[in-house]
Amino acid sequence: MLPVNRADETIFAVASGAGRAAICVLRVSGPRSRDLLRHLCGGNPPPRRASLRTLRDGAGEALDQALVLWLPGPASYTGEDCAELHLHGGRGVVDGVADALAALGARPAEPGEFTRRAFLNGRMDLIEAEAVADLVDAETAAQRRQALRQLSGALGELYSGWSTRLTSVMAQQEVLIDFPDEDLPPDIDRTLIAELGMILAEIEAHLGDERRGERLREGLVIAVGGAPNVGKSSLINLLADRDVAIVSPFPGTTRDVLEARAVFGGVPVTLLDTAGIRASTDPIETDGVRRAVGRIAEADLVLLVADATAGSVWLDADVVPTGGAVLRVVNKIDLAQAPPGAVAVSALTGQGLDSLRAALNAAIRRLVERDGPPPLTRARHRSALSEVVAELRGAMTEGLAELRAERLRLATRALGRITGRIDVEDVLDAIFSQFCIGK
Ligand code: GDP
Repeated sequence: MLPVNRADETIFAVASGAGRAAICVLRVSGPRSRDLLRHLCGGNPPPRRASLRTLRDGAGEALDQALVLWLPGPASYTGEDCAELHLHGGRGVVDGVADALAALGARPAEPGEFTRRAFLNGRMDLIEAEAVADLVDAETAAQRRQALRQLSGALGELYSGWSTRLTSVMAQQEVLIDFPDEDLPPDIDRTLIAELGMILAEIEAHLGDERRGERLREGLVIAVGGAPNVGKSSLINLLADRDVAIVSPFPGTTRDVLEARAVFGGVPVTLLDTAGIRASTDPIETDGVRRAVGRIAEADLVLLVADATAGSVWLDADVVPTGGAVLRVVNKIDLAQAPPGAVAVSALTGQGLDSLRAALNAAIRRLVERDGPPPLTRARHRSALSEVVAELRGAMTEGLAELRAERLRLATRALGRITGRIDVEDVLDAIFSQFCIGK
């Protein structure tokens, strides 16, 4: 459990990465920040200006010569008085300054506590806070773009737009209940249902985006599957640019599912090399085949490989059921011709590899990119929105005005939980505990 209401405490943490580094950024936030800086630097530096200061502990011993930033609230990241100390990266320096801060009454921050304070002080909503976590974790350009778009408020605006419209429908519904005999517009009920239908359709379209945003955030799983010896391991090694899998002329070499991380078109992917699918009497190989079929069925994209020398026959869908998109590849075109229409390669000579990479990039882009409103990025949002949809569907078919009003209230609450407007305390821990310390 994170501390909920300890804003009177001043916290500090290293905000830069672990390991040896020239500079280490130590962050401080809380009401005593000004006081702490005065003790460490022997006076307060000017606000929002980088100042070079000698930092000293309580006994007057010099700890470092550092750049110091004094960032008074409320216009700071957390909304509180903050400071940043750009220290030299040595352990002896960083530990010395941390000890001095602790001796002056500050305490080490918990994971995500800076951003949690920013949220509690109204500096950002929960969606923006999650975007900060995604930016910290962004491995690729496409992930960075998605997180920045979310941080800029685009996704939050979409959700708060629905929330405002729902609140307005709710208000009209209340009027209908409270003043049934008044001179209300005759078709207010029909207008209300029509507006609900529109909101519902928009949310359903957002939910039905085939997990594009979540896929980009989490990375795609691409399975390479096919009969034994068609060249799956050779292709994986070429695509991942290193020796992940054993290549061998003996069919049935790959038994477990092997994983390799790579980046295609700005999207992080996990490539899976699976056991060649065939009937076998060897129990270990049979188990490998069972696992292969399972992982292929769950993959976002399957590279189904066939061997040109074996007549370019791909395995049937009833042998390898695929859940996601499929890209058909024919390998060993140095030995035999591939049928027209397939992506034709030779893992041996490298022929056709550029076309395979291009086809792969295009297939990945189709899975993660879409024009229009920002995509849904988290399971947390998906589950709240599914709740909204269920309540709205119920509200539209509800005959009793009071019951419809109650369903609308529940829908609005579920929507409010996403941005953190309503009913948030119970979701805070879950969100902020995913952060690293210092953010
Ligand atoms: P897997 O069982 O499907 O993973 O296939 P491997 O990658 O282990 O390859 C099986 C055999 O085919 C090995 O002897 C490879 O050297 C060979 N091989 C793979 N790709 C090609 C290719 O494009 N051309 C030729 N001539 N041989 C290949």
